[in-house]
Amino acid sequence: MTATKRDYYEVLGVGRTASQDELAKAYRKLAIKYHPDSNRDDEDAISKFKEAAEAYEVLSDQQKRARYDRYGHSGLEGGGGGFHDVGEIFEAFGDIFGGTIFEDFFGGRGQRGRVRRGADLRCDVTLNLEEAAAGVRKTIQLTRHEPCHTCHGSGAEPGSTPSVCPRCRGQGQVVQATGILRVQTTCPQCRGNGKVITSPCKGCDGSGMIPKDVMLEVAIPPGVDDGMRVRLPEEGQPSPDGGPAGDAYCFIRVRPHKIFRREGSDLILQLPLSYSQAVLGTQIEIPTLNGKKSIDIPRGTQSGEVFQLRGLGMPDPRNGAKGDLLVQTYVEIPKKINAKQEELLRKLAEQDEEHVTPHRKSFFERVIDYFRVDDDESAEG
Ligand SMILES: [Zn+2]
Ligand SMILES: [Zn+2]
Repeated sequence: MTATKRDYYEVLGVGRTASQDELAKAYRKLAIKYHPDSNRDDEDAISKFKEAAEAYEVLSDQQKRARYDRYGHSGLEGGGGGFHDVGEIFEAFGDIFGGTIFEDFFGGRGQRGRVRRGADLRCDVTLNLEEAAAGVRKTIQLTRHEPCHTCHGSGAEPGSTPSVCPRCRGQGQVVQATGILRVQTTCPQCRGNGKVITSPCKGCDGSGMIPKDVMLEVAIPPGVDDGMRVRLPEEGQPSPDGGPAGDAYCFIRVRPHKIFRREGSDLILQLPLSYSQAVLGTQIEIPTLNGKKSIDIPRGTQSGEVFQLRGLGMPDPRNGAKGDLLVQTYVEIPKKINAKQEELLRKLAEQDEEHVTPHRKSFFERVIDYFRVDDDESAEG
């Protein structure tokens, strides 16, 4: 890590009160300016591209932003992110651009060369928390197009051949002239192929493609969270004209867990204690994702107290850094007790009456003060 890190707001060129919208706009501008595709071999641009992505990653996340605002860069150690390579940045932020900017400016699609890239495909994978923590291989099914067996992708009925497009005479391009302006565009009739199909293939209705179900094994990295997606490069639809295939995206859903609740890379476990356990202290065996673990509950534990078990949370899918398991206690009050328990509790209550604990004492003193002030005020009035 570098010794001096620039302020994230300064990196994005926004004020400290910038809205999510302003952040996204600022980031988008920088991402386009310093994009690796237009700054080949320019180390400075690439490091600025990464710097902007890191700043946006933190400031667009409310929790991280709050931590950063309070503690600066040191508040984000471990969970502050930073990206290893440019590919991860596209992975993380593909969504905020709604697909369009990435397709137009990023990834070299569209304008470079004439070939079109195949369409992207989506698949869904549901995991349980244990699978999400450890990483898992899953078999998924995609419906992908492949060249029709009957016409071998030409779209023309066997025995017939596509004929030369009458509109562009096989050029694939037409010139439209309006006044002095002459614009060359793709032929709308043959969509640039230069040929049209007069008797379409019955196997594929002339499209040249038929749908086929394919099974793929996907390696899902440890630490993925609900809503993330895993990209399978070039596993999408084939290109209609020999270019690269599209990508497939596996959208991850993680089922809620019976015991653990996830918050970032931390796991939270609610642990019920009885009154006597909280007062006297105890040792309790709790579940973790790596099996059982015994923890000490010290004497005088308060309801709501949190015990932090370092490294027993979820791994960060980017760098593998483990979060913590946070055991939050609460004192459970029994709804039903037996006669013996009742007798003991009543005795205990009598004891409590004689021996007022400091906490209770200060509370009662405050109550007395409260009424005294009230009396004084009404006396003045
Ligand atoms: Zn066909
Ligand atoms: Zn044509």
